Amino acid sequence: MKLNIDDRQKALLYKKTLAGEFPDEMGRFGPFGGRYIPETLVPAFSRLEEGMKQYLDDKNFMEDWHKELNHWVGRPTALTFAPQLSQSWGANVWLKREDMAHTGAHKINNAIGQAMLAKKLGAKRVIAETGAGQHGVASAAACARVGLPCCVYMGAVDIERQAPNVDRMRQLGAEVVSVESGDRTLRAAIDEAMREWVSDPMDTYYIIGSAVGPHPYPFLVREFQSVIGIESKKQMLEQAGRLPDAVFACVGGGSNAIGMFYPFIQEEDVELIGVEAGGLGSGLGQNAASLATGTPGVLQGAFTIILQNRDGQVQETHSISAGLDYSGVGPEHALLQFIERIQYVSAQDKEALDALSELCQTEGILTALETAHAFAAAKKWADKNPNKNILIGNSGRGDKDMSTLSKYI
Ligand SMILES: *Cc1c(COP(=O)(O)O)cnc(C)c1O
Repeated sequence: MKLNIDDRQKALLYKKTLAGEFPDEMGRFGPFGGRYIPETLVPAFSRLEEGMKQYLDDKNFMEDWHKELNHWVGRPTALTFAPQLSQSWGANVWLKREDMAHTGAHKINNAIGQAMLAKKLGAKRVIAETGAGQHGVASAAACARVGLPCCVYMGAVDIERQAPNVDRMRQLGAEVVSVESGDRTLRAAIDEAMREWVSDPMDTYYIIGSAVGPHPYPFLVREFQSVIGIESKKQMLEQAGRLPDAVFACVGGGSNAIGMFYPFIQEEDVELIGVEAGGLGSGLGQNAASLATGTPGVLQGAFTIILQNRDGQVQETHSISAGLDYSGVGPEHALLQFIERIQYVSAQDKEALDALSELCQTEGILTALETAHAFAAAKKWADKNPNKNILIGNSGRGDKDMSTLSKYI
């Protein structure tokens, strides 16, 4: 499938993006996004959209959410200058420390926001999907906090390779359901959560874990995750006295990246660079770099860029980091790449592992394998652009990756 858009239309999309006009009324980010769902879910999505509009505009709700961010999540998270890394790269490197947020990653910003919204909408129970288990843990914690039962769908393959997170979810009171269908990983878990939602659309609330899926999820998740970029901007001005020259974030579905980038989109002097999982190489099936190697198509309710073969069959992916191992990407990223406001690059498994070690040894920070991809790309960029100010979204901590890491030490 090819997009039929000329340069004039593209320039218009760029202008509208900078003016903050997306998503539009139809839930579209230019040609991308939208809502492709079964008829049985239409009432549930209408209710979600109306409720979302009501509460995101409600001063009391937003104040309550910010209170939870401050006192329960531990925000604002620190902005840390990295002196040794800076010296070694020939740059000034700043880290936005989402690894210091409760449960160890940025996922909690969205999970607590949506759990609070679920409560307001009168949901009796919450369902969520998880790949590596990070969103499952964040959802289980958030549901315990607001007092809603939580059921997490997780692929059977992931249950096996992420056992510690399965135990954490259960300890936090969630039920974990093993998904035996499809690829038995994240994509199958999302499909299964959607199916479960169809069976009880009004009493169940589905907390999606990334900036993906049918409208309004990509928008809703962006709203909750933008706290990362809003804080970063303010902290850069306070601590560095200026905005960064370039900002890096890793991209799986794209939630930490859109949260970091969105408040910088209008700052055209700031280069924004998203980093996907390059896996073992550029061949189909060897990576999870949807934007680098994918094509337009519909995946899990949205028109976006996906990894598929010539028959439109969704492709299995590979990445050393479970959190980036997904065959699609949020529709807003598809637009931002298309209009060339954000550049998307990829880092391979080996590069991520090396970057992770360097960060541990220079700054004493064990970052997540997902996040390490952003460091690998930033280092390359710093090589070509000396003496710049670089901001990196440190999306999570790496304790969860110890079993993978110990194989390589
Ligand atoms: C889940 C996860 C990611 C990838 O998800 P996005 O929605 O792309 O942010 C990245 N980093 C960490 C630490 C994660 O847990």
